[in-house]
Amino acid sequence: MSTDKTYDVVVVGAGFAGLYMLHRARTAGLSAHLYEAGDAVGGTWYWNRYPGARCDFESLDYSYSFDETLQQEWDWPERYSGQKEIQRYLEHVTDRFGLRADITFGTRVTGAEFDEAECLWTLSAASGPLTRAHHVVMATGSLSTPRLPDIPGIDTFAGRRFHTAAWPDEEVDFTGRRVAVIGTGSSGVQVSVEIAKQAEHLYVLQRTPSYVVPALHEPLDAETLADEKTRYAERRALALRAPLGVDFATRPEPTMSLSEEDCRAEFEKRWPVGGAAILAAFPDLIVDAEANERLANYLKDKVREIVEDPRTAELLASMDYPVGARRLVVGPGFHTMFNQPNVELVDVKGSPIVEVTPTGIRTADGSYDVDDIVFATGFDAMTGALLAIDVRGRGGESLAEHWAAGPVTYLGLQAAAFPNLFLITGPGSPSVFSNMVRSIEQHVEFVADLLVALRERGASTVEPTPAAEADWVRHVNDVAGQTLMLRTASWYMGANVPGKPRVFMPYVGGVPAYREICDKVAANGYDGLVIA
Ligand code: FAD
Repeated sequence: MSTDKTYDVVVVGAGFAGLYMLHRARTAGLSAHLYEAGDAVGGTWYWNRYPGARCDFESLDYSYSFDETLQQEWDWPERYSGQKEIQRYLEHVTDRFGLRADITFGTRVTGAEFDEAECLWTLSAASGPLTRAHHVVMATGSLSTPRLPDIPGIDTFAGRRFHTAAWPDEEVDFTGRRVAVIGTGSSGVQVSVEIAKQAEHLYVLQRTPSYVVPALHEPLDAETLADEKTRYAERRALALRAPLGVDFATRPEPTMSLSEEDCRAEFEKRWPVGGAAILAAFPDLIVDAEANERLANYLKDKVREIVEDPRTAELLASMDYPVGARRLVVGPGFHTMFNQPNVELVDVKGSPIVEVTPTGIRTADGSYDVDDIVFATGFDAMTGALLAIDVRGRGGESLAEHWAAGPVTYLGLQAAAFPNLFLITGPGSPSVFSNMVRSIEQHVEFVADLLVALRERGASTVEPTPAAEADWVRHVNDVAGQTLMLRTASWYMGANVPGKPRVFMPYVGGVPAYREICDKVAANGYDGLVIA
């Protein structure tokens, strides 16, 4: 491929973030091109095709808000959309805004190098240089680098092997098969419920139990949808004022100002509604340990109510960390599934996996012969996709070196000594701790406005000062320290990847607080950024 062409902006990744970035760059009159490793748009919703994959915020919230006609013309058939529907939506957005011509699919960017003399980035792939650009936007995803656990013997397994985040395109039939699902996070819970409907026997291997809540999965009939659409502007405005980027009608009182019974009554009201509404019942559930315990006890009691076998119930309810400190799992039907005779919970915390054998899985005190293994073992979150690219900024410094002790950024958007390089929902931004489409839109709009400001000033570079970066990292840590988020080792801090520095990555001060900070930075002529 030729490097003759120099773009104003190159975007990497064609999920929600990259597509909107490409659109905004083009409408700002900038020349832009996008590279995507996959063969289609969708990002998360292209790769995670496992049965049961579904968003856990309602689609009326988990969708773009930037174009009124788009949101009025698109009909979500269900309250919480499945993977296929979200992918269809992103295909529609791509064509509606004419983005396809500016996207190269099937191309994984492996390198990005900044030339200080020319103020240009050169992007390359395994096959060689791709193109050059003044600005690079990494829209590479926070949960886009699947992780396989380091279990001896994985490659010796003679049966079928799947990872939820690299699921085949064609339908996989589990009828009559013995299946093991490893992992009980969001994907593991969702996929298990579907496999249990077909498999002869399903072993669910649980190391860390999850708090699991139901969701109101139901079709959106035309009348309800039309009614919701008349109030779209209000719904979007409320979402921007809510910490998670979705309005859950949080009650104003602190949890402990109410009696235990009154709190339970509120939880009980929210349980059938499902989703994260229960975690947002009161404003202090992720900061006040006693308050959190009330919710934790309520959710554990629900497990005991639903699951008939007492030993299984106790294992499923053995969470020893605050609710919300790990991602709350929205998984309707998960607990009920354990009352089916073909489903068995395997406790791999008490009896760890020793090896995968050609015929199944051996734990410290048992053997499980299976035909299929499904790895629902998550991602190298927030930094995995970025560090898979050899990014080199000023003086040839690599991003991997800059982040050797953990990711450091200014606002989650830029790193010092990496001029004109932008991250969408990067570490240090609300990202995975929010309705990501709201956070993506806010980041993209910030970056697009900044690029326009640079053009107006005739400037060639923008980058944070090391001091601004250090202050922001301190602030992100301070805010996390005021919550219960640090009371467990989670993927939010890289604990699921051996050797990854333990740094709490998302900004948990909430979507409105974060937006306010970014707006102030912009209003003050981009405080903390050097524009030259
Ligand atoms: P992605 O959708 O991850 O897209 C990144 C793209 O970049 C990918 O297509 C990838 O192939 C490409 N890419 C990466 N590296 C390179 C490279 N080097 N070269 C070229 N291309 C590259 N969030 C919510 O807010 N609510 C939910 O309900 C929700 N449900 C989820 C369910 C699942 C199963 C998963 C995995 C995530 C979920 N998320 C949810 C998080 C989800 O990732 C985001 O909501 C959103 O889709 C992220 O969009 P993105 O464009 O930032 O990244």
